Amino acid sequence: MINPFSKLGISDDVVNAVKDLGFENPTPIQEQSIPVLLEGNNDFVGLAQTGTGKTAAFGLPLLELIDFKSNKPQALILCPTRELCLQITSDIKNFSKNISGANVVAVYGGANIMQQLREIRNGVQIVVATPGRMLDIIGRKAIDFSNVKFVVLDEADEMLNMGFQEDINDILSTTPDDKKTWLFSATMPPEVRRIAKNYMDQPVELTMGTKNTGNVNIEHEYYIVRARDKYAALKRIVDFNPEIFAVVFCKTKLDTQDVAEHLIKDGYNADALHGDLSQQQRDKVMQRFRDRNMQLLIATDVAARGIDVNNVTHVINYSLPDEIESYTHRSGRTGRAGKTGVSICIVNSKEIGKIRQIERIIGKQFTKAELPTGFDVCEKQLFALVHKVHNVEVNENQIEQYMPRIMDEFAELSKDEVIKRFASLEFNRFLEYYKNAPDLNSSADDRGERGERGERSHRGSDGYTRLFINLGSVDDFTRGDLLSFVCNNGKISGKSIGKIDLKGVYSFFEVEDATVESLFSNFKGVEFNNRGVRIEKTADSDGGGRSRGGSGGGRREGGSYGGGRREGGERRSYGGSGGGRREGGNSGGGFRDFSGRSREDRGAGGSGRREGGNDRKRRS
Ligand code: AMP
Repeated sequence: MINPFSKLGISDDVVNAVKDLGFENPTPIQEQSIPVLLEGNNDFVGLAQTGTGKTAAFGLPLLELIDFKSNKPQALILCPTRELCLQITSDIKNFSKNISGANVVAVYGGANIMQQLREIRNGVQIVVATPGRMLDIIGRKAIDFSNVKFVVLDEADEMLNMGFQEDINDILSTTPDDKKTWLFSATMPPEVRRIAKNYMDQPVELTMGTKNTGNVNIEHEYYIVRARDKYAALKRIVDFNPEIFAVVFCKTKLDTQDVAEHLIKDGYNADALHGDLSQQQRDKVMQRFRDRNMQLLIATDVAARGIDVNNVTHVINYSLPDEIESYTHRSGRTGRAGKTGVSICIVNSKEIGKIRQIERIIGKQFTKAELPTGFDVCEKQLFALVHKVHNVEVNENQIEQYMPRIMDEFAELSKDEVIKRFASLEFNRFLEYYKNAPDLNSSADDRGERGERGERSHRGSDGYTRLFINLGSVDDFTRGDLLSFVCNNGKISGKSIGKIDLKGVYSFFEVEDATVESLFSNFKGVEFNNRGVRIEKTADSDGGGRSRGGSGGGRREGGSYGGGRREGGERRSYGGSGGGRREGGNSGGGFRDFSGRSREDRGAGGSGRREGGNDRKRRS
């Protein structure tokens, strides 16, 4: 029988390599793209989710189109993060392992550049790169792209989200005009459309699945809780799913660290992944997660991009992403390679509107779920234990010698009694912990919460000017952080600030008309993380400086984004204070120890030690 990859036009060497990886049949995206890309004379736009087999969809045709007798770069693959860069490089090395002379190099920030330069000098045909480091190497005139025939822009929407637009322009300008460009993106915002329009000539466009539709294998659920119960809700979800293997998303590095530390302290097998960790630390965390020596990976969006770990059972949105589009990337960490998964949002009643927005984008409905009661959790854990005992593999040789003594100990007890006691051993801990556990569910019309700053009453009201600032959530700002940053540097009172609209690489905020000029003058020369901070009136502020309000994006008046170039996934952390990862953590697999748990009702932002906690001060 002819191998299905051979039928698509892939040569034997590569077919054998993918067979070794366990690929028996092409995924739908591979089936559709490979024949088109193999022609080698088209630009291409593939709208596809992560985890669908995208890398092989472009990687296999590339291997057929490259001349491996020549040692010159012929393909350049750009992607947003070093994790993804390493993943793609490793995949392509695997696909090309039977091709003699094939050389692939990974070019990414945070690693020794000399080694990368050496590899380039030794000759490569395929360069996989993140934009920042690629530009650095181009700037050193250390690479010749005059023979590049194919450029792949992977996760294009993410690269733009992270502010890499200018870098991509600069890099592409060093490649020949007649190269072919293949763009892959999970979503198609106007910026990505623009790239397709500017850099491509009548691209073949393929949509894998429905446009902007989330992976069909993923169920989407949300739980409504009071903000102060978020952490307890997270724990309850985890406890109700004894076999959970999850990525938990937080908005900032601080939150990520906080939640991870609380979970570790409470006996869970968790660790944090965020931009303050060194490359080595991140690799270590990822390796533990990949090896399933860790159950819960607590991560920021930037750090978790490109994580390619199969069998992730749940994605938990501890906080919703600022950019709704990021939800697709988060949820795409589960339900990979044909598996099913659940993507959960823990929200407060004010955030339901955002859930509806996400529904519109992914074209799927969320299920409103109820948090289990303490009793439900105990029951679930009890039967998980029973199941485990039933299925445990007994090491007959080792246990044999102890059996007489064990039987002796139990001589007085009936079989029923022995079973009851074994089961109680774990069950008691949960009972103890969950006795009197409160109902954490909050209803959609629960008004018990203070609105966030964005919902303040004078939103969009007259008397305010809407301003753009080139800082946002990728700088790890929360709305509160941005508020204090603006107040401290602009020397104005918090009362003068209106609505704050935190975005990814930039944000908008309103300020009382009367304070605009002094704010501008006080902000002259202000820097953040060695980058000039820029504040501008938005185009929707009218001549008199009136804000037209509204919560939309707000076009800025002219110009490109602010001061210094943003390093995105490769950027260094601000303030240098965030080395705060605890080494090691709870590295053991197996059972959690519930004995040391603290009270459930303590919030994640509560008492725990917070390393790098002076970040906020340093900003102002
Ligand atoms: P990607 O979207 O390229 O990140 O791939 C997602 C996962 O699917 C990776 O673990 C791949 O190794 C796996 N994969 C890709 N193509 C196939 C295939 N044809 N058969 C089985 N697994 C695949």
